[in-house]
Amino acid sequence: MALDSNCLFCKIITGDIPADIVFRNENVVAFNDINPQAPVHVLIIPTLHVENAGDLAKVSPTLTADLFLAAAEIAAQHKLNGYRTVFNTGIEAGQSVFHAHLHVLGGRGLAWPPG
Ligand code: AMP
Repeated sequence: MALDSNCLFCKIITGDIPADIVFRNENVVAFNDINPQAPVHVLIIPTLHVENAGDLAKVSPTLTADLFLAAAEIAAQHKLNGYRTVFNTGIEAGQSVFHAHLHVLGGRGLAWPPG
């Protein structure tokens, strides 16, 4: 489906819910996470409603690449020396919003393995 009127992130795409949008093109929208876990914490979402990262490639062969290209652009804007990209897919992995989103985290040292 193109957009889901019950989805929080679809409402950010349409502007019905405000967000601090930092990057936008035809295929993706990026905005600052409301509860940042690092000095830079941006969420990048497809402008189509796709439930999780596992479904992205089923919808479009290029959408995943569009998300990572936007991540690189945001990292360059912030002059990050390194950054982490994360998809949480499914409840057990911590996914809480069921519109696929790529977390971009940076601006501090990031431990490995993650929790
Ligand atoms: P996840 O747990 O991987 O599904 O990530 C969902 C993320 O969305 C969390 O990091 C939340 O802080 C973030 N979030 C939830 N609501 C909003 C909002 N209205 N604006 C920006 N970020 C949000």
